[in-house]
Amino acid sequence: MLTHSGLGQAGALHELAHGGFSSAQVEDPTPFGMAEGLEGGVEVQGGRHGDNRTALDKNMQEIACCPLVSAPQEWKGRAMTAVRILPLVTGRLEVDMRFFTGGEGRGVLPVLCHLVEHADGLVLFDTGMHPDLVRDTSRLGRLERGFGVDMADEDTLVAKLEAIGVRPSDISHVVVSHLHFDHAGGLGCLPDCRVVVQAAEWAAGKDADAIEQGIYLPADYDLGHDRLEVDGAHDLFGDGAVRCLPTPGHTAGHQSLVVELASGPVVLCGDCVYTEQLLDEMRTPAFGHDRDEQLRSMQVLADLRAGGHRLVYGHDADQVAAFPAAGLV
Ligand SMILES: [Zn+2]
Ligand SMILES: [Zn+2]
Repeated sequence: MLTHSGLGQAGALHELAHGGFSSAQVEDPTPFGMAEGLEGGVEVQGGRHGDNRTALDKNMQEIACCPLVSAPQEWKGRAMTAVRILPLVTGRLEVDMRFFTGGEGRGVLPVLCHLVEHADGLVLFDTGMHPDLVRDTSRLGRLERGFGVDMADEDTLVAKLEAIGVRPSDISHVVVSHLHFDHAGGLGCLPDCRVVVQAAEWAAGKDADAIEQGIYLPADYDLGHDRLEVDGAHDLFGDGAVRCLPTPGHTAGHQSLVVELASGPVVLCGDCVYTEQLLDEMRTPAFGHDRDEQLRSMQVLADLRAGGHRLVYGHDADQVAAFPAAGLV
């Protein structure tokens, strides 16, 4: 299996994991054996809901100027739109940007989850990092040296939910874009929710080699949740308001989430696209499962954007800084 860098995915991440971030290594033009890619210029490249809404309203200061929109359309008594998307920043990762976005030197990537309010349940898209990483990053194993984790107690998923008056038990569904540690690490805090994952991703997360390389950490996600494995597109509530969209490439079973808001459709891209700039330039990070597949998935998202969908990228610090405090409605 070839990847973006010409290394196997496991090899690329292994190199990344063992590269470290000393200044000497950053000076080295080929610290992780990815010079070819860098020089190529391309490769761097139910009942639960009612109470929550009240709590959310109470805790959002800007809510008065950006009120919750009750679904304007009804279909057989069911809302055809979700009410709101509330992005939650659950920590940050410090990385060598050359391999993630093609930028210079070290940089910081926000780690995102999104709370989606729907009349039939509260949905979380991704869960951030495991709370143990606040004090001890050893659970990352081979990836530990490749990522600087910046996460305080108040950044953890449970703390972020608490700050807006949501208990973990209020969440009905968690849709995981994929099973990397910065997306599936919070699942252990949500033992009662139904996990929605692409079947291909769940299978990939069982791969012994990938686990050995540290690409997947089963301790994050193989926890006995009620699990719905889907194969391709999936309509979460049967009304078209919240839909899984397969966007493989970054991983074998990566998926994005399409959410119909009253103001129009939004796509939560996950790691299919880290930043807006990468989509504008149709570039991928220097590693991943299948670069060509990822580019095809990115084109799907670019086409949706051209058609009027708003895209929320996986790790875009500039976009995060511009998020409205009340979320997207
Ligand atoms: Zn990822
Ligand atoms: Zn990620």
